[in-house]
Amino acid sequence: MEDLNMSVCNICGGNEFISGPGGRLSLTGKPPKCKGCSSLERHRCLREIYLQLNNFMPFKKMSALQISKDRAIDPEWFASHELSIYGGDNSIDIQNIGRQDNRYDVVICNHVLEHIENDYLALKELMRVSSDSGFFN
Ligand SMILES: [Zn+2]
Repeated sequence: MEDLNMSVCNICGGNEFISGPGGRLSLTGKPPKCKGCSSLERHRCLREIYLQLNNFMPFKKMSALQISKDRAIDPEWFASHELSIYGGDNSIDIQNIGRQDNRYDVVICNHVLEHIENDYLALKELMRVSSDSGFFN
């Protein structure tokens, strides 16, 4: 795995980095935020994980549900990709996802659960709509 706090952003290919929120620097003392796409270490780390996963379980035949935008994820990787944005036209209540069981091969839900009233119910729903051969994160 490449150094994710590095010289080239694995999301946009940018090579300029600036301080993170509140002027934060990375643990190595380098500026963590990509100037090109605003990604932080966690975005680039997730991107790397998905890129590695895609090597042995190709996403091109998979359906994905993504709860909230995440710059680490490229919708083009998947055969189908549904995006829910809170308050948007396709806003899904993850405590009551109106989709059939096992509907999606990949369910992506990063930095969302902490904003949900009943996270236990949300986790049950995310598991319910995830296929048995798929995964969610
Ligand atoms: Zn970038």
